[in-house]
Amino acid sequence: MISVAVIGGGAAGMMAALEAASRGAAVSVYERQNRVGRKLAVTGNGRCNLTNLHASPQSYHGLDPGFAAPALNRFSPMETLAHFRGLGLLTVFEPDGRVYPLSDTAGSVVDVLRFAMEASGVCLKDSCEVTALERAGSGWRVKCTEGSFEADRVIAACGGMAGERFGGTNKGYELLEALGHHRTPLRCSLVQLRCGNPSCRSLKGIRADAAVRVFFGDALLAYSAGEIQFTDYGLSGPAVFEISREALSRPGIVVSLDLLRSVTEEELSEMLLRRAERTPQLTMSDIFLGTVQNRIGRILVSSAGLKGSESVESLTEKAARRLARLAKHFEFPVIGDMGAANAQVTVGGIRTDEFDPETMESRLWPGLYACGELLDVDGDCGGYNLQWAWSSGRLAGLSAAGV
Ligand SMILES: Cc1cc2nc3c(=O)[nH]c(=O)nc-3n(C[C@H](O)[C@H](O)[C@H](O)COP(=O)(O)OP(=O)(O)OC[C@H]3O[C@@H](n4cnc5c(N)ncnc54)[C@H](O)[C@@H]3O)c2cc1C
Repeated sequence: MISVAVIGGGAAGMMAALEAASRGAAVSVYERQNRVGRKLAVTGNGRCNLTNLHASPQSYHGLDPGFAAPALNRFSPMETLAHFRGLGLLTVFEPDGRVYPLSDTAGSVVDVLRFAMEASGVCLKDSCEVTALERAGSGWRVKCTEGSFEADRVIAACGGMAGERFGGTNKGYELLEALGHHRTPLRCSLVQLRCGNPSCRSLKGIRADAAVRVFFGDALLAYSAGEIQFTDYGLSGPAVFEISREALSRPGIVVSLDLLRSVTEEELSEMLLRRAERTPQLTMSDIFLGTVQNRIGRILVSSAGLKGSESVESLTEKAARRLARLAKHFEFPVIGDMGAANAQVTVGGIRTDEFDPETMESRLWPGLYACGELLDVDGDCGGYNLQWAWSSGRLAGLSAAGV
């Protein structure tokens, strides 16, 4: 019987372990935290957006974006859902293709995986950190905090650096780098943006609907629309997470918010002039009344260089155009992100050209496999990253079991 050591009891590791065990391998999972699936249990704001029905290889990034295709084609979102259904997990999907457990609880996903592993005889070694991997004959010696164990094959499923509070770590990269593997530069994605706009502090806590555009000079790099949140350091919210990968891709990026996407700049400028005409008793600080949140309106007025205490009667056409321009293009220069502690995903990882995409086996070390976020593959926001964990984990488990 082939023995397989899986390093990391996250989404990819659990899927790999189940697959290898279902194919007759003797499987052990080494997890440095006190229980498996800690990160999985907090995904999707505790609901676990476990896949996206629209997931395809085009939704993934890295030095070789095509690397993800074989694993995804062999274990697609529909096959993943059928697999989870087989484990007893019912799911629902939303119009944008995001899939959640019917229970609306991420813990259910962890539970069905954990119980299935127990039922398949997978040995779970919690609170056990793997510190080194060494060749032992044609197999491996797995050195960990609990001692030393041998296995015919090893699957590295250590995840990335993102989500530090839930197990994100650099340890997986270090383990594989010690064996001669290389990694690409790492950065955060699906993360809050720190911005150099002095208005952030005054807008702190406000949620709004906006179109979010990412500009490098005149070039539009990315677009999203939906809920944003102003914070004391910058911008957060689902629509900001969606564009964060591109917003952090190089220095000098500006995020531009359209806070009134249902009207054009010209219409808005007209509306403001009409308001000034019809309700001359208002002050400038009320000029946006009924359009954007009051606090945002006041900040737009001061950003346009107008006095909030002045009467709207003094509004000129030029000033109205300036206000409308600002509301439709409220700019936030990006100066950084909120770090791995807050990020959901790592951009970069172990170089994929050192692994075979058809098997997930190392090209340097036969019998060593890798899967999940540890590799230089990251997906868009919306269930794509867990789908990569499931697809790559399954392929690694299947290959390691020797089938
Ligand atoms: C807050 C948050 C919300 C998210 N929400 C979603 C979502 O809704 N949908 C989605 O698609 N993606 C989401 N993601 C991203 C997704 O969770 C990850 O991409 C996915 O979990 C990666 O799976 P993995 O198995 O590769 O890594 P992980 O899930 O991080 O698992 C790796 C495991 O390996 C363990 N480990 C590491 N090194 C060692 C070692 N040396 N020895 C032993 N154990 C080790 C770690 O403790 C960890 O448990 C979210 C991420 C975060 C942080």
